[in-house]
Amino acid sequence: MAIDPRRAIPRTDVVMSDERIVDATARLGAGFVKAAVKAAQERARAGLIAPEEVADHVAAGLSGPLSSVRPVINATGVLLHTNLGRAPLSNAAREAVALAAGFTDVEYDAITGRRGRRGQAVIDALREQVPKAGDVLVVNNCAAAIVLVSSLLATGKEIIISRGEMIEIGDGFRLPDVLTSTGARLCEVGTTNRTTLSDYRNAVGQNTGFILKVHPSNFLQSGFVSSTPVRQLSKLEVPIVVDIGSGLLQPDRLLPNEPNVMTTLRDGAALVTCSGDKLLGGPQAGLIFGDARLVDRLRRHPLARALRVDKLTLAALHATVRGPRTPVDIAIHTSPQVLRKRAEVLVQRLRASEVDASCIGADSRVGGGGAPGVVLKSTAVSLRASYAEVLRRGEPMVVGRIERDRCLLDLRAVPACDDEALYLAIIAASEDAANMDKDHL
Ligand SMILES: *Cc1c(COP(=O)(O)O)cnc(C)c1O
Repeated sequence: MAIDPRRAIPRTDVVMSDERIVDATARLGAGFVKAAVKAAQERARAGLIAPEEVADHVAAGLSGPLSSVRPVINATGVLLHTNLGRAPLSNAAREAVALAAGFTDVEYDAITGRRGRRGQAVIDALREQVPKAGDVLVVNNCAAAIVLVSSLLATGKEIIISRGEMIEIGDGFRLPDVLTSTGARLCEVGTTNRTTLSDYRNAVGQNTGFILKVHPSNFLQSGFVSSTPVRQLSKLEVPIVVDIGSGLLQPDRLLPNEPNVMTTLRDGAALVTCSGDKLLGGPQAGLIFGDARLVDRLRRHPLARALRVDKLTLAALHATVRGPRTPVDIAIHTSPQVLRKRAEVLVQRLRASEVDASCIGADSRVGGGGAPGVVLKSTAVSLRASYAEVLRRGEPMVVGRIERDRCLLDLRAVPACDDEALYLAIIAASEDAANMDKDHL
């Protein structure tokens, strides 16, 4: 008589009493561990693992920290990849976040023992970087910055905006909708391809809240195109607000067409808004730089409280601005020769382990709504296409891209210190990738 193998599946309390799983429960909590045990029992019931493997399986799955997200090696060649969390934080910023996680003096003055100004150190750091800014305010993201500015200056009024700058940010969110959600009306001027100073001038009236200039950060226009620079707009008698998007504080030689906070303020913008997690290379945040009186009014607006950032963001932002070069900055400025050399070393090691790998020139991009059209020359490790899926399922997850039926791992966004992890991930994937290829024959 055949014994039903499902009867051999260990009971939950038996698995939970395994020494390794008792340890994991102390670390991760009983609820989380029980769910993992249930999942492993399901797998055994489905015949995917043997009943006697259940405890091993659970223990292996619980060895890391409790996290809803998994770390990724970004080998896509897109530096600020929206689906991969945009900017990675520097080690300094990561340490600052860990430190800020407990009780902290984020809003406490140790000398007087009273309430202190929240996030003052970050504001000081940002003002030091952009001396032209009268003041700075940090909110949840760039969209929040725009909502706050619009709420203060244009609720029940008009925002003058060029038809060429009514952009969709991403994920279906459109800037015009974000603006009108605050009770402002849009006064569209110019055309898709051309908007002149007189278009703006003719639109200014009693009901104007401000002129909004938006950096088209995720597409390029060319041909019969012209827009009006901030320098000219600032001669009009209304506040000019500029959404530069990507958060470059000062000009960058490699990104000549990307607007930056310093230059935009010098050109006469009253307020400049940008993200913290694009070219600035920090945590998700929205920064508002500019006129001290306007920023102070923004700070006191009731919505400011709803849009404020938490202590973890403030800590990460401070370390980003004050600390060492960010991973984003390093990735943009790494020379193609250095990337080529790293790829060659990797390929040589992989070939020594019988992996079909080669080096190939690649074009990497900033992505994430920054420096559209800018191509950064890079090198990719080229593998058989079957690697793509296996590497995505691996630990750490490696995300590359498929081009001409090869899996390309572009090194531009991979920090040099991750080359070893990337090498090990490829080696670990090689057997499964080979099996996939066999199945397809
Ligand atoms: C990215 C971007 C935004 C949105 O920024 P979030 O920080 O994601 O809210 C707004 N405007 C421009 C020009 C952008 O590039």
